[in-house]
Amino acid sequence: MGNESKPRVEPLRKPRECPECGRPSTRENYPFCSDRCRQLDLSRWLTGSYAIPVAEDESKPDSEEY
Ligand SMILES: [Zn+2]
Repeated sequence: MGNESKPRVEPLRKPRECPECGRPSTRENYPFCSDRCRQLDLSRWLTGSYAIPVAEDESKPDSEEY
């Protein structure tokens, strides 16, 4: 008697949407849909949001009032 156990099929998770274009992401470029979007997000991260506001030194002379 061959009591074969069926291979457990993992439930497919709902594909995550690409943060760039909104398309369903692929397995290779998760969580992006393509390498293009991944590079796009990477470049944006490095250039855009990477900018840190520089603290300006307030060296204003005291306004002398009589
Ligand atoms: Zn995309």
